[in-house]
Amino acid sequence: MNTITDFDFNGHKALIRVDFNVPLDKETQAVTDDTRLRAALPTINKILGDGGSVILMSHLGRPKDGPEEKYSMKHVIGRLESLLGRPVLFATDCIGESAASAASKLQPGEVLLLENLRFHPEETKGDEDFAEQLSRLGDVYVNDAFGTAHRAHASTTIVAKFFDAGHRMAGLLLAAEVEAGTKVLRNAEKPFTAIIGGAKVSDKILILEKLLDLADNIIIGGGMAYTFYKAQGGHIGSSLCEEDRLDAALQLLEQASAKGVNVYLPEDSILADRFAADAATQVTASKEIPDGWMGLDIGPAALREFSYVIAQSKTILWNGPMGVFEMEAFQKGTAEVAQAIARASAQGAYSLVGGGDSVAAINTFHLSDKVSYVSTGGGAMLEFFEGKELPGVAALN
Ligand code: AMP
Repeated sequence: MNTITDFDFNGHKALIRVDFNVPLDKETQAVTDDTRLRAALPTINKILGDGGSVILMSHLGRPKDGPEEKYSMKHVIGRLESLLGRPVLFATDCIGESAASAASKLQPGEVLLLENLRFHPEETKGDEDFAEQLSRLGDVYVNDAFGTAHRAHASTTIVAKFFDAGHRMAGLLLAAEVEAGTKVLRNAEKPFTAIIGGAKVSDKILILEKLLDLADNIIIGGGMAYTFYKAQGGHIGSSLCEEDRLDAALQLLEQASAKGVNVYLPEDSILADRFAADAATQVTASKEIPDGWMGLDIGPAALREFSYVIAQSKTILWNGPMGVFEMEAFQKGTAEVAQAIARASAQGAYSLVGGGDSVAAINTFHLSDKVSYVSTGGGAMLEFFEGKELPGVAALN
């Protein structure tokens, strides 16, 4: 894969697909978390530093039929200007006269931001004509939006075909994400432990199946663990359960044992008498949950076992929280698993944290700089681990 590292952008206009799909305050539309803006800075600064100019394009939110003020990219200008330390020009449409004229006037060192790509339904349809219009704005195409690399949209994939192989390339963020994912997927040092949590088995079944061929240990926590216990004949009270996944869960356990992969389910759980931060709690075995109670976090015995397995690991992949970490009463399992991963990383293990909620969790516990890599692309990283080729990455090759 070509990356921007070896390209001299002096005099070039780089059309960069970034992921500026940032959360905005509902009232003021101010950016409430600028992580994604910051993540694009190294690529933008490298190009500007070479003497090039940049045209930034992104989607923001999910506009339905055409332009919606609350999803305008103009809401990110202020924050972006202060992060870049220079003015950001704005085109009120991503194609047509406003974009073409602003792009043609762009001088080296200048930054142009285009209006929301998804104000045109052609973007998500992967429309060729729309992609071709975008392509005319710059002479080099850079994709730095790993978070949308699993979508064959016009700006993430189709546009690449209008640039020759020497003029389409990965930005630094996209390249780092692919490198981190590849390290775990193809070159994992053993023992390799995958920690998969979150609410639903159905969301994670494909990655779990793939992990059977990669991992030595699979730790399963969060709400999805109870479907596994129920499948084995356990009593799970009113814990989360996907009745239509009981067979899949059993099959997974059987395949794991046939392949010699150790699966660790949380031996005990912290129960709540209702789904609330101030619910009454107790600890029981996860397969003996009384009626009227639900498991909302892993218990102390599970934590000891999980921490021990993590400490022995040389490669660690973490996706999904161990419990309802948004509520203080049920965040201990997730917090301590995060701590265990941080300790293993300090001892030399390679750890990759990927997937929306585990990233939110690692940030909540201020441990993101204590793990080897935190992926910005939730769905994209998941699909990468499911073994799928990401169209946005393939299009650069
Ligand atoms: P996911 O997006 O599938 O990774 O799921 C993340 C969500 O799962 C978070 O919002 C957690 O609060 C939720 N979750 C984790 N453990 C449990 C549990 N035991 N019961 C209910 N929800 C859970």
